[in-house]
Amino acid sequence: MVKQTIQIFARIRPTKKTTSVYSVDDDEEKAGSTLEFVVPRDLADGFINNKKESYRFRFQKVFDQEANQDEIFEAIAKPVADSVLGGYNGTIFAYGQTGSGKTFTITGGAERYSDRGIIPRTLSYIYQHFSQDSSKMYSAHISYLEIYNEDGYDLLDPRHEASRLEDLPKVTIMEDENQNIHLKNLSIQQSANEEEALNLLFLGDTNRMIAETPMNQASTRSHCIFTIHVCSREPGSSTLRRSKLHLVDLAGSERVGKTGVGGQLLTEAKYINLSLHFLEQVIIALSEKNRSHIPYRNSMMTSVLRDSLGGNCMTTMIATVSVDKRNVDESISTCRFAQRVALIRNEALLNEELDPALLIIRLKREIQSLKEELAMVTGEQREDQLTEEEIHNLEEQVQKFVEDPDPEVTLDLGPDMRKIHHSFSLLKGMVRDKLSGGGGDGEPPTPSDIPSKPGSPQPEEVKKLRDILQQRDNEISVLVNMLKKEKKKAQDAAAQLAVFINGQPQSWHSLQSSTAMPAESRMSQDKEAVPCDSGTSNALHRRQGPELSMGRQEAFEIFRRDHEDSVTIDDNKALLKQRFAEAKALGEQVNDARSRVNELKLQLERRRRQTAAQGLADGIAEPVEPDPVEERLCEQIEEEKKSYKSTFGRLKALKTEIEHLQLLLERAKVKLQRDFQEWWSQESARLQTADPRALATAGPSSSIPLTGDKRTDADIMAFVRARQNLLSRTGRARPQFYISSRLQCSPSITQTAGASGSPCFLMSVIT
Ligand code: ADP
Ligand code: MG
Repeated sequence: MVKQTIQIFARIRPTKKTTSVYSVDDDEEKAGSTLEFVVPRDLADGFINNKKESYRFRFQKVFDQEANQDEIFEAIAKPVADSVLGGYNGTIFAYGQTGSGKTFTITGGAERYSDRGIIPRTLSYIYQHFSQDSSKMYSAHISYLEIYNEDGYDLLDPRHEASRLEDLPKVTIMEDENQNIHLKNLSIQQSANEEEALNLLFLGDTNRMIAETPMNQASTRSHCIFTIHVCSREPGSSTLRRSKLHLVDLAGSERVGKTGVGGQLLTEAKYINLSLHFLEQVIIALSEKNRSHIPYRNSMMTSVLRDSLGGNCMTTMIATVSVDKRNVDESISTCRFAQRVALIRNEALLNEELDPALLIIRLKREIQSLKEELAMVTGEQREDQLTEEEIHNLEEQVQKFVEDPDPEVTLDLGPDMRKIHHSFSLLKGMVRDKLSGGGGDGEPPTPSDIPSKPGSPQPEEVKKLRDILQQRDNEISVLVNMLKKEKKKAQDAAAQLAVFINGQPQSWHSLQSSTAMPAESRMSQDKEAVPCDSGTSNALHRRQGPELSMGRQEAFEIFRRDHEDSVTIDDNKALLKQRFAEAKALGEQVNDARSRVNELKLQLERRRRQTAAQGLADGIAEPVEPDPVEERLCEQIEEEKKSYKSTFGRLKALKTEIEHLQLLLERAKVKLQRDFQEWWSQESARLQTADPRALATAGPSSSIPLTGDKRTDADIMAFVRARQNLLSRTGRARPQFYISSRLQCSPSITQTAGASGSPCFLMSVIT
């Protein structure tokens, strides 16, 4: 058992804005660092106030703005991943206000490969370990859960039909009689290698993105738990080690008072606060001594993370903080929370269990070998049951033994338990017969007492049958007991498997057929397809939609050009192309190195044969001097091998990068399509209510039918073009389409758009 308090780290998000006064001190002597905020006394509070000026918080380590993703992984995630590989449970959770870098830290940035976060790096590390450690057999499964407003959703739903969170399979919590938590409906997908695991991560993230609407802002208001289940076993052993690693991206920790939102958003804000409030309660309860009740059950998140908080788990918290001046209050409150968390002591156990199936196989093998050993010692082959003849002989022997008046006489049965047991049951039968035959003792008559009817079995036969029956009964009860034990063990094993055991694993095949495209085909689909007008803004597999009208295609081209992500998409495409070229070149180098090694080996062999033949001709069996040519060839082979190995290593790393970039690109494209879909529906709705006078001067727009029920795609496009004309005539810059879909929903974004001075298409023209 490893006793350990929850490890706490802080990470400061890089910023270009004016920061509050803060400092990071790395303590050389005692391991750890301090984060200090200095808040000036507020004059508005009056000249005399007791407000604190300096706030100091101690962490295991504080990562300042320039810390990169690799450092974070090395210092925070790697030790946890190591203990998970050793059979302990682990959890890493990120806590902080919205925008402080939780998702960036846990999952990674959406643009660059170097920005990949803890999840992809940990997957890479774990699979690398699997391939390097040949002393054990490993397997991994993945699950991905999102909790929003106290409801759980399975993000690994491969159907790609979810356009809202509610379309994803709903996950519910169940508790068994041992108070183990099970998550019903959460799929646990097996993933054989890093690529499959990454595909699952991106599938989950894509579902997460698609399901988010400006109204629910799920990414800031929900908790996401990515879990890697690891199982390992030494070859030939029936002991399994099962552990799980939760990587948790919590909801934004900002307080409702500050968000100041109303209506539906307020309910949701209350919810996150409620669920984070329950997390706080659990943490307070755990950090207080002598508290017997810990309120885990108050919320879904604390129920799911029960083991991570004060249980069988090695847990690490990353407090993500923003040092922008206006965020100082939230940052201090995040750090305060972390200090509480640091008081919690967990007790992580090595999760070992016996695999019942393997145990049975092993025991069977052991029985077989013991039988063989016995046969060798006794020189006779034994069956499980005595033969008819053996039984008959035994009966005679026992009969003789009983009838012999000599008290010294012995019953010699030899070292055979079957015969000993059978003789005992014969003797027992005789004693019982005698007892009941004496009569008058009130015992009910045994079957042998009942006078036999003509044609009915003889008393000896009945006795024999009774004995056999008795023996069978014994065997059955032994077997039933064994079965019960096995069932219990299997249940225990299943319960330990994880919180998530009740999910229904989806087959990878079905998932792959719908999401994971082969690398080449992903690359070859260079052009984004315009989403069809189906009402759902999805998705990866629907790329080859029905033929699109010219108007819609044209609109998509314009939309794509002006979209905020288009630069990233283009950059990533270019980078991907470059990486493919590099991979191709490296592949050629690897092949060249391999053929050079083969060629050198041939040369070496030829040389050795020649030397041997020469030796024979000269009558020398072993050459005295080492052959310099042979030595040189060996050296060359070694060098070539080294170069082959390093090039191959680079190629492998490049492959991972290419796969990651492809997935990033794929997700950006899905996002683009979703945004287009939203914008297009808004434009068509707007056309219905457009004012003809506003567009009268726009030239081509005069042909747009502005009345009537049915609008074609061409109508909408003509309408869009007309408005564009109007904008360019009035001397405004190109409209920013992408803002439009967010405008009506978030007051903060409206302000931002207005403040930036960029004319917004929808606001400025048709209102
Ligand atoms: P949260 O999940 O806490 O709401 P995000 O992780 O989404 O915050 O971060 C908000 C923005 O800041 C994102 O655009 C993200 O890419 C960026 N960001 C956060 N942390 C970093 C960092 N350490 N380096 C660079 N960019 C970051
Ligand atoms: Mg986030």
